[in-house]
Order: sequence, then structure tokens, then C-alpha cells
Amino acid sequence: MQQQVSHIAKSACPHDCPSACSLEVPILPDGRIGRISGARDNSYTLGVVCAKVARYAERIEHPDRLLRPMRRTGSKGSGQFAPITWEAALDEIAERFTRIAQRSGSQAIWPYHSGGNMGILQRYGLDRLRHAMRYSRQQTTICVTPAESGWLAGVGRMTGPDPREMEDADLIVMWGGNPVSTQVNVMTHVTRARKARGAKFVVIDVYRTPTIEQADLALVLKPGTDGALALAVMHVLLTEGMVDRAYLARLTDFDAETERHILSRTPEWASEITGLAVADIVAFARLYGRTRKSFIRLGFGFTRTRNGSAAMHAVSCLPAMTGAWQEKGGGAFFLTYDKSLWGINTTLLHGLDVLDPSVRILDQSRIGAVLSSEPDALKGGPAVEGMLMQNANSATVAPDTAKVLRGLGRDDLFLVVQEQFMTPTARFADILLPATMFVEHDDLYYGLGHTHLTYGPKLIEPPGEARPNSFLVRELGKRLGSKHASVGMADHELLDDALVRAGMPNLREVAKVGWIDRALPFEKAHFLDGFPQADGKFHFKPDWQKIGPGFSRMPRIADWSPDFEQSNAAHPYKLVCPPARHFLNSTFSETPTSVARERGPKVRLHPAEAQRLGIATGARVRIGNVRGSVVLRAHVDEGQQPMTLIVEGIWPADAFEEKKAINTLIGDDPVPPNGGVGFHDTAVWLRPEPSGP
Ligand code: SF4
Repeated sequence: MQQQVSHIAKSACPHDCPSACSLEVPILPDGRIGRISGARDNSYTLGVVCAKVARYAERIEHPDRLLRPMRRTGSKGSGQFAPITWEAALDEIAERFTRIAQRSGSQAIWPYHSGGNMGILQRYGLDRLRHAMRYSRQQTTICVTPAESGWLAGVGRMTGPDPREMEDADLIVMWGGNPVSTQVNVMTHVTRARKARGAKFVVIDVYRTPTIEQADLALVLKPGTDGALALAVMHVLLTEGMVDRAYLARLTDFDAETERHILSRTPEWASEITGLAVADIVAFARLYGRTRKSFIRLGFGFTRTRNGSAAMHAVSCLPAMTGAWQEKGGGAFFLTYDKSLWGINTTLLHGLDVLDPSVRILDQSRIGAVLSSEPDALKGGPAVEGMLMQNANSATVAPDTAKVLRGLGRDDLFLVVQEQFMTPTARFADILLPATMFVEHDDLYYGLGHTHLTYGPKLIEPPGEARPNSFLVRELGKRLGSKHASVGMADHELLDDALVRAGMPNLREVAKVGWIDRALPFEKAHFLDGFPQADGKFHFKPDWQKIGPGFSRMPRIADWSPDFEQSNAAHPYKLVCPPARHFLNSTFSETPTSVARERGPKVRLHPAEAQRLGIATGARVRIGNVRGSVVLRAHVDEGQQPMTLIVEGIWPADAFEEKKAINTLIGDDPVPPNGGVGFHDTAVWLRPEPSGP
């Protein structure tokens, strides 16, 4: 039945997805929202959004939404709470935080945010309370850091060619990403290039994804071996004369030593490491080398291993070899994750004017180690006694789940969580506060996978007593005695300040269009006048010391690094845990349609191994390592190499038979050189379980 619509409002998707779609939201006469669609007049979104966000009303009106502030009444993690007022909650938090700071110092409090909401106000705005009160800082590593390190090593800045240029490419290579499931707009642009120009589409991944189903050529390699493939491609480019020597000499640090090194990395060498046929490696290298307008779209997947930064760096060398950076529709793109590109000034919004760099910085990914007071994780400071978490579900999402749960369950930790649902993390809160969803508050969003800074205004009233994260930051700031100028400012004033302070159009102007397109001029985006390195050159030999403290573990010249969690006799399989199509990290694992479509956690197992172990689809299996074990169902599938296991989706622990989530198996040691998590870098064993419940 056709819904009656009062008007269509513009908005932006707040989720942790580089598409950051511009949205059209139908507002219904009763103040609810209808089915969301993509903004047709946005030249990146082009009217397309994913199904999970199209049906967002299902989340907003979910009967399990948190609607009242609550105080814990049962034991930690029990999920037992009683309602309290916002006033009482705020007073209690302020009193407890003040006491902790007086007793153990302000750094014993750790405000913590993650990617549940990507807004510059509702996510990062927590930082202005942090900095004003000198609470411990956060190194935000859980998502992008390994990839960022590898990209910065060669290119020097987190920008690149405009991703809309994919339409001008004759070859698009999707390396380590599954946009059909996770970044739907990439496929819109791929489809346009194929229709208009007959462009070829190559996908490189560790299992047969829905994106691979659409590829002209697919390379399914062993996890953690992408760097070897990149080196072998460079070898073929050199030996078959498909490199741009003039470009290499003018705009890179390529030298005789680099050439000798690459020539030692043959397709035969790479075949041993990757499990790919020599002929397939050579065929891909020739296709790449012979196509001038070749556009590499880099995903995150292949970088979430302990050798992921080296892999990203190796792959980013390819367009430097051929000079493809010079072409419209050529080069490589990872993310637009650079403050100078976005231009806004968040001094007030993020409290940068009161940031004290001497305050310790704790690694977000190592929350388990921090809360377990492991000395290296605490960086020489006091144990964390108070936390305020927003947009974060670490009990499911962070690595080494058992350690995280022990930490969150500490009786001497005062934990405040602001959330939309009773997540596994929220169950551990001492004070639990209801949060708004994106159409219920104001914010601005970086495009990350494109160049639009998009406005998402408040469109409808929040249910119950749900309040924006910014409300908590402001009200707590007042009670804690913060003198920061932002305390007296409304949300729209803070956003306006970030724009106007930078000399950009004000919020009212931005709202008229819905976004600002911050695309760089072609010459800058393609580094035609030099790369943003001190010498103006792309680096085959990076200065890893500038990137992070783990530099000694990085290869001196672009290479595949064997420094990762390799399988062995006791742990013969490599486990990869990629995103599921209908979830986004742990978000949407509460909505009935997404859960129904994903149908429970399962492990994809190659038929050869399934037969050897006598396992059929649907059988119970246990997978494990030194960190623990989980029980789930087998799904026999030949879409990956024989010793690769795939478990899609970050399901909550309750979805598993023994109530242990998949990240129980993932290590929390920092990926070199600058941190991050090896989510796809886990050696495990697998065995059949006797048939049970
Ligand atoms: S594709 Fe990504 S950005 Fe677009 S609506 Fe879906 S989750 Fe949001």
C-alpha cells in the first residue's frame, strides 16, 4: 500500500560505511519515517542505498529500543536495571567521575567512542569532554589503521583520485573488498563503466563473495598473501616492459635496488605463497599492465592482518609502476580521510584548544588489555576506573572477547554506556542511557569513500527519553565544572562554528543543498605535481619510523611480509571474519529482517576438508585456538582455498550455542607499525562436535 508522505527530507547515513550515502527520507503525517532511498541528485550516491538502511523505520520503531535512563540493579553483565531520571543519572555520573579523578587522577577515566555513529558531533564530540577534563585519550585503531599506515607509507596522504572517475576506467580492480554487500555505491559506478566503456572488473579476495560473482576475473587467494601477489604483478610489469620508466624516475624513489628486489619476486614465488596458479597471476598482471586507465579500488579486508600495512603499501605501488596515476579513471583509491580535504575546523567541536598531548593515549582496540591493567596497555598510567562509552559495542566487536568481558565485568569499574539497544556491552553498564538515532539529532558526516561532507539534520522527535550523545557530553560538562566554550552551545551552533571558523558556507547554506562537495582538482587528486611526501615522490622504500612504533617489523622495500599469524600443525586453518550483507559491524543484528536474512552464524568450509573430516552442511563444529573456542554450524562451500574458513557477520554471543562470540578467537596484539587488529589473521583448528541441541 502506498504511504502518505508529508514531505521528503534530506539526510545522511550515519553508519560505519565509506559510502556515507546522501539520503531522501519520507516524513509521514504522523511524524514517523517511510522507506528511505538514496539522494538522486548526489553524484556519488546516485539514488542507491542498501536494503538495511532503506528499511530503517524498523530500527527506529523497534520495540526493544532503550527509552529511559537506568541504573544497574543486578550483578555486572546481568542486564538487570531499574529506571531513573536523567537528572539523577547525570548527578551520579558526575559525582563518581569526580571521586575517581580526585582519588586516582583524571586519567583513570577513559571516554570511549567507536563507529556506531560516524557523525563529527555525535561520535567525536565526546572528545571535547575528554580534553577539557584531561581524561585519557583514545587511539582510534579498530577499523582503518593498518590500511592507513600502508597507504601513508607510499602515497603520503589519505586522498586520491575522485572515486566517481571509476566511470572513466577501462579496468576496475576491487582489491580486498566486497562492495555488493558493504559499499553498494561502488557497484553503481562499476556498472556505469561497464555499460559505457566495456570496462573489465577484477576482484581479488579470499573467498567467493557476491562481488566476485559479478567479476570478469576473480583471484581467490590465501589470507595474508596479497602482498606477494602485488610483488609478482610488479615483476611481470618489469620483465614484460609494461612500466612507465619516465614516471618512475620523475615521481617515485624507484631505484636499481628496488628493481633487483622486485625481479626476485617471481610469479612462481607468489604462487607458492598465495595458492594461485602462475598463469592466473601472469594473466592479471598483463591485463593490468596493458590497460592505461586502470583504477584500483582498495578495500579494508586484505589489510586486517598483521602484515596488512605491508600489503596495502605493496598494492599501492602498482599505479606508480605503470604511471596510471596520470590518467582520468586511473590510479588507486582507498579513503578520503584527510582533515585538509574536509576543511572544517573542529577546534571547539572536539575541544582541540584544550587538548594536552602529555595526557596518555590508550588503544581503542586493546580495551580488554587496558581494562585488565596489562602494563603495556596502560602506558605507565593508572588503572581505568571509570568509562563513558558511546557508539561502541566492544563486548562483541573488540578482539579477544573473553578478556574484554572480564574487564567490563570488573566490580571496581564504573561504566556508563549510552546506547540505542541493550547490547552485550550495555548489559555491563552501571548507568545506561538511551541514545537517539540519526534522524533524531543534528550532525555532519565525512564521505570517506567519496568527497561529500553531508548534513544530517534532526527530522523527527526521539521516542521516550532518548537524547543525543551531545546532550550527555554537554550536561555532564556542566556538572563536572568544564569551562570549555562549547558547554554553552547548542548542537547546530557547534556544527555551524566548525564550518564558519574554516571560512566555509554556514550550516544554513549547507542545509539548502544537503552537502558540500570537497573534491580536489584533478592535478592534486592524481598527484601530478608530486606526492605529499617531503621529497614529492611516491615511496617504494618507506620511512616506516614516521608511521608508527612497530617500524622494525616492516619490510624496507615494498614486499610481502611473512610476519603474521601463520597456520601450523596444531592450527592448520586460517579464519577470516568478514562483514555480513545485512549487518554493519554489530549494528542491525537486532533488527528482525536482517537476522532472518543472515540465518545465524556459520562457518564456510571447503568440500575437500569437509569430506576428510566427515562434516556436512548444518553439522555442529567447534573451532578454536589458544584464546578459546566457539561452536557453530558448518556450511560446505568451495568458494575459498581448502584451508581457509569464513565466518561472516559479527553476531552477538547469544546467537552462538555456548554464548561465545566469534571474536573470542581474535588476538588483540597491535598490527605493526601503528596498531589495529588482525581480524582476518587467525590460525585455528576445527573439529566436528557430536550432534547436540
Ligand atoms: S550503503 Fe553504507 S552508507 Fe549507504 S545506506 Fe547502506 S550502510 Fe549507509
